[in-house]
Amino acid sequence: MTAKIIDGKAFAATVREKVAVHVARIKKDHGITPGLAVVLVGEDPASQVYVRSKGKMTVEVGMNSYEHKLEIDTKEADLLALIDQLNNDPAVHAILVQLPLPDHLNEDLVINSIDPAKDVDGFHISNVGLLATGQKSMVPCTPLGCLMMLRGQLGSLSGLDAVVIGRSNIVGKPMAQLLIGDSCTVTVAHSRTKDLPDVVRRADIVIAAVGRAEMVPGDWIKKGATVIDVGINRIDAPEKGEGKTRLVGDVDFTSASAVAGAITPVPGGVGPMTIACLLANTVTACCRANGLAEPDDLTV
Ligand code: NAD
Repeated sequence: MTAKIIDGKAFAATVREKVAVHVARIKKDHGITPGLAVVLVGEDPASQVYVRSKGKMTVEVGMNSYEHKLEIDTKEADLLALIDQLNNDPAVHAILVQLPLPDHLNEDLVINSIDPAKDVDGFHISNVGLLATGQKSMVPCTPLGCLMMLRGQLGSLSGLDAVVIGRSNIVGKPMAQLLIGDSCTVTVAHSRTKDLPDVVRRADIVIAAVGRAEMVPGDWIKKGATVIDVGINRIDAPEKGEGKTRLVGDVDFTSASAVAGAITPVPGGVGPMTIACLLANTVTACCRANGLAEPDDLTV
C-alpha cells in the first residue's frame, strides 16, 4: 500500500481563502477589520521567523497585524502591562504571545493574563476548561489544523481508535480532547508508555507529537491507518552538502507511507495548517467580540 499524502500546504491555502472571504464580508457589512497582535520577547531566530511569517499571512488575508517586539530582558510587569493594553484595545481581536518566553518570565501567568476571548492560541486556563468540557472555546491552532485534516480525509471519526503520542499542553492534550469530542476512542501515549509499538499498532489514527526525529517506524503502523505527523525535527543532511540540514517529522515517512492509508509530510503537513488556523481563530474571535454570526467552516 502506498499512502495518500495529505497535502497540508494545499489544505492551508483553502483555509486561508475561506478566511479572506469572511474578512472581506466582515469589512464590507460591518466596517470591522479583524486584528491579530503578536508579542515576541527576545530574539530567538526560529521565533522571529514564525512571527514574521504570521504577520505576512495576516496581512495577506486582509486583516490587521500588530507586532510587538520586546527586549529579551523585558520585566514581567511591562509585558503584563502590554497585554492589558491589548486586552482593552477594541482593534485587537486576538493576541498571541510567542512561546517559549525567556526563563525569567512566568509563562502560565503571562498566558492567563490574556483575555480568554482574545486568546487565539487557546492556552488560557478558561479555554482549556471549556474545551475539556465540550463547550465553545478558542481551540489551539495545531490540534485544530490536525482535526480539520482528519475530517477532510476520513469524514466522520466516530468510533475510530486514535493514539496521540505526546501529552503536552499545546498539542497532545488538546488533540486528545478534540478526538474525544469527535467520538474517537483515544489513547494518550507518552515517554513512560509501556510497549508503545503495540499501542500504536492498534490505532486507526496516529498523531505523533513528540519532537524525536523519525521515531515511529512503518512497522508500528496498522495497515491503512491515517498518520498525522506534528513533529518538526532538524537533522543533518550530508547528502545535500557539508553542514546542510533538513526537516523531518516524528514518523519515518518512507516506511510509514508504505503501510498507512494516508499521511502528512514534514514539511508541508501540519505546519502550514497551524498558521492557517491562527488566522481562522482570529476571525472567530472577531465575530464573537462583535456579536456576528461566526463562520462554521473555520472552527470545530
Ligand atoms: P513537548 O516537548 O512539550 O512534548 C513532547 C511529548 O512527547 C511529551 O509529552 C513526552 O511525554 C512525549 N515523549 C517524549 N519522549 C517520548 C518517547 N520516547 N515516547 C513517547 N512519547 C515521548 O513537545 P510539543 O510542544 O508537544 O511538540 C512536539 C513536537 O511537535 C515538536 O517536534 C514540535 O516542534 C512540534 N510542533 C509542531 C507544530 C506545528 O505547527 N507543526 C506545533 C507545535 C509543536
